[in-house]
Parts: sequence; C-alpha cells; structure tokens
Amino acid sequence: MKTEPQILTEEKPLCTLCSERGELLYSKLSDSLFGAPGQWNLFKCPRSNCGLIWLNPAPQAAELHKVYANYYTHDVGSESLARKGVKLVYNGLSMLIQWPIGLAQARKRMQYLYLDDKFSGRLLDIGCGDGVYMRFMAGKGWKVEGLDFDEQAVRRARNVYRLNVKQGTLEEARYPDHSFDAVTLRHVIEHLADPLKTLRECLRVLRPGGTLVVVTPNSESLGHGLTHEYWRGLEVPRHLNIFSLTSLRRCARELGFTETMQNSFTTATGADFILDESLALQARSQAGNLQGVEKKTLHFQRTLRAILLQYKEHLSLRRDPSIGEEAVLILQKR
Ligand SMILES: [Zn+2]
Repeated sequence: MKTEPQILTEEKPLCTLCSERGELLYSKLSDSLFGAPGQWNLFKCPRSNCGLIWLNPAPQAAELHKVYANYYTHDVGSESLARKGVKLVYNGLSMLIQWPIGLAQARKRMQYLYLDDKFSGRLLDIGCGDGVYMRFMAGKGWKVEGLDFDEQAVRRARNVYRLNVKQGTLEEARYPDHSFDAVTLRHVIEHLADPLKTLRECLRVLRPGGTLVVVTPNSESLGHGLTHEYWRGLEVPRHLNIFSLTSLRRCARELGFTETMQNSFTTATGADFILDESLALQARSQAGNLQGVEKKTLHFQRTLRAILLQYKEHLSLRRDPSIGEEAVLILQKR
C-alpha cells in the first residue's frame, strides 16, 4: 500500500476575520471522509460577534493540493438503478410533507441559489465542479461562466457539457471590473485560507447592483450541536474556516455592508444529507473495530432519523433562525 505524503503545516493562532486569539475547540481529528493524512485541531474565536472556527495548524499554501488528493469531485461514479428508484419514491412521498411545511419551497430557492427573483444576466459560479448549477441556470436564461481549481471537474464541464469554465483561483482568473450580474459561491469559502480577500474580489467583478451569494456550513447548527466533532461540516483538513450566521455577518461588515444592507439567514434545505453523514461518521467512530458490520436496518433507521431531524430543524427555524445546517449571505453591490 502506498503511504500518503505528510502535509506541511503552519500555525494559525489568530482569527482571520477579527484577529482575536483562538481557543481550542477540538483536537486530534482525522480525515475519515477522504483519508488525507495527519491529525488536526479546530480553534474557535471567543468573540461573541464573530465565533469563527478554523483549522490550526493549517496546511501550507503549497501543500493544499494534498488534502484534495482523494476528493469526491474526482469520482463521478453513477448511482445504482435501485438507489435511483428508492430516491424517486422518497422524493414523491416527501413532497406531501415538504410542501405544507414550506421546505419544498425553501429547497426550490436553494436550487436557484436565491437568484429566482432576479432578471437573468451574466453569472459566475465559483467552485462550479462539473457544472450542475451552471446547467440549471443556463436553462433559466442566464449566461453562465464557471471557475474551479479541480482539473478533472473543469475538463468534464468543458468537454462533456460544453460549459465556459476556467481552472484556478478567482484572483488568477483576472476578470475585468463589473463583469457579472451575479456571483455565487456554494460550499467554497470554508475551503479558502483568506475568505475576505476572495469576497472582495467577488465584489470587484460584480457590476453595481449585482448580487453576491454565499452558502456555507453553519457551525451553530442543530446538527453540530448533536454530533459535535463528527459533524459533516467540519471536514478537516479541507475546511480551513467554518462559519456561522454571526461570522458571516461579521464578514459582510468587514466588506463594508451594514446589517440593513445584507440578507443573511440559515436553512435546513441540505440538512438531510449533512445530518445523515454526520450520524454515519458518529456511528462509525463509536463502532470502533466493528467498522463494516453496520447493518442495512441500522442504516435505514439513521437515514429516517436524519429526515425527521431535517423537518424538526426546518420548523424550529421560525423560533431560532440561526440553527439551520447551512448559512446564507446575500449582498447587493452598491
Ligand atoms: Zn473572530
């Protein structure tokens, strides 16, 4: 078996948003999802108006490619017919519950990344992968462009789906000022070493009046509260910074947006997936050496629990708007 190359790291004692010294939250976590080597610590900013969580020590910039060596955007394996069938039946039945409680409508909005109430224009999707969202929005009349660091995903987007996609970082892409009507980052900023720098660049390439949409795991979620260090949103060592509604709002303030100029909220639309994965990570870890003996019935119970928790989370948002599994920030450029 080939041994994984070690990842060289650097100390990150201070919060990247407010420069406060962090406090240890979790120690010695390992990558149980994609097997990147090493043991990792997460620190949390103690300021109540920030609360950012970050990886410390973190991989050095030149080492970051190593944490993505076995990452899933490389694997485009297809689902079995049986699984597709079960999903289809589940989706049909769940609509009977999701419509009356408003979850179906919330999911629809998430599918558009909250651009469903905007006139179509030129859209840049950062972290576009092989272009699922780009294809959806192209179908709605948007002129779509994408950006991703993953060479294989970019090749697929270009060759299979004929999409206009660049490979690399936003800074490297050097788009002219005011190029886009909308810029979207779904599950991207948690992977960035300097999220504020990238968000500033997003605002530069947006036209005045244009919309910036950020979606990211929410560290104050119900799921994190339930599963702690097993919560799927932590994803060490690929998530360098983990946000919450509070720390996203802090980002917006650092970018020059006041409370009234931003729209920020949390959502339970992706909670079934995040909760199911978190409960699976927890079960696998607690099973210890029994790994692999997890029975189908247990898996069914876990998935059902995740679905029910999603409904609970969605309904609880009315009372406590900060506990959705994902946090959303929407900014309109002046
Ligand atoms: Zn902070």
